[in-house]
Amino acid sequence: MTERHAVVAGAGIGGLAAALALHRRGWRVTVLERAPEPREVGAGITLMANAVRGLDALGLGTEVRRLGRDGATGGLRTWDGRWLSRVDAAELQRVLGTTALGVHRGALHRALREALPAEALRTGCTVRHADPASGTVRYQRDGEPAEVSADLVVGADGLRSTLRTRLWPESPPPAYAGSTAWRAAITFDEPVPAAVSWGPGSEFGTVPLGDGQVYWYGAVTAPPGGHAADELAEVRERFGHWHDPVPALLAATRPDDVLRNDLYHMATPLPRYVRGRVALLGDAAHAMTPHLGQGACQAIEDAVTLGALAGPAVDVPAALHAYDRLRRPRSQAIARAASRTARFGQELRHPAAIAVRNAMLRLTPSRTALRGMARHADWHPPRPA
Ligand SMILES: Cc1cc2nc3c(=O)[nH]c(=O)nc-3n(C[C@H](O)[C@H](O)[C@H](O)COP(=O)(O)OP(=O)(O)OC[C@H]3O[C@@H](n4cnc5c(N)ncnc54)[C@H](O)[C@@H]3O)c2cc1C
Repeated sequence: MTERHAVVAGAGIGGLAAALALHRRGWRVTVLERAPEPREVGAGITLMANAVRGLDALGLGTEVRRLGRDGATGGLRTWDGRWLSRVDAAELQRVLGTTALGVHRGALHRALREALPAEALRTGCTVRHADPASGTVRYQRDGEPAEVSADLVVGADGLRSTLRTRLWPESPPPAYAGSTAWRAAITFDEPVPAAVSWGPGSEFGTVPLGDGQVYWYGAVTAPPGGHAADELAEVRERFGHWHDPVPALLAATRPDDVLRNDLYHMATPLPRYVRGRVALLGDAAHAMTPHLGQGACQAIEDAVTLGALAGPAVDVPAALHAYDRLRRPRSQAIARAASRTARFGQELRHPAAIAVRNAMLRLTPSRTALRGMARHADWHPPRPA
């Protein structure tokens, strides 16, 4: 049988996971990445149990568990430190059968890269177009046009996906979700819970990463396009008076550690993730707000599902049809849930609404809260076809 070739546009977490899933099924894979060097920006990340299961299916679960930190206790708090609900990590692990992890994005990205054949990743390659009928991919390398043919093309080129824009021209671009977020991964030796705290129109989260590292993020409701000359000073201004350990975390952060992003999402969901031999995956398909910590987790689910469906003798358009059927309803439901979580949590401003929400959360039995948290993470990879 002739070797099948898959071309993946974009070497983010989603693209690398897809390449690995296809490589594991015997495909030759080429990943075209526009950046001159392989890299992943964005501090830390939470991988929920669904993503950890996906990584297990890719043979990387043990390695990523070693690189990250699991078992941190946590929950939801108010900005002044009162607990609204607590999550017992051991109990969550018992319910889901596996752990959730905090991991440095750079470490996760490296683990995915290193699991691929060295020749698979080509940097400095900007994808311009893919023909859904033939699978021919056109791209630019060092300013020169080039093309490569593929049996299967994966559009994993992120929020501003070129392939989505070219092949779904009728689909509106991602919309501003109403919030801006700062984040950093820092060295911090004291124990920190995996917790989220809410103030009016604002949220601050902490995730232990292991090895004396902590990932923090802060988000506020704000108009798009804001920039401060000193973003760390801006974060301290907004969050420096919050409960411990927020001030200490900010004191331990260097200005260069801080990243700021406005949050965008696919407010109008795509009607399909697939055209002919091309499948979209990750943020290219379903960019969502980070309020459930599920964006990259869904990209990993997409990748694992694609690999499971793409057996060596597969009819590619038929397999992609099945991929669309399996992935679109779930990922779009989670994107809607992430927006709802934002409205119920970070975006709430009215004191009366906040008081009602907080009372509801305090009165919710911990078992019910746990089930609510576990709902989105309770996913199992499909059996390979
Ligand atoms: C503040 C914040 C916190 C978050 N926290 C979490 C979390 O805790 N857990 C979680 O699961 N998710 C989280 N997310 C979401 C997560 O970061 C994304 O969903 C995930 O990184 C998407 O991965 P991706 O591979 O689809 O896209 P990307 O990471 O955007 O990768 C796309 C890649 O494609 C490349 N590219 C773009 N265009 C081209 C082109 N034309 N040709 C070639 N290459 C191209 C880019 O350079 C990039 O390398 C968070 C997001 C934000 C903003």
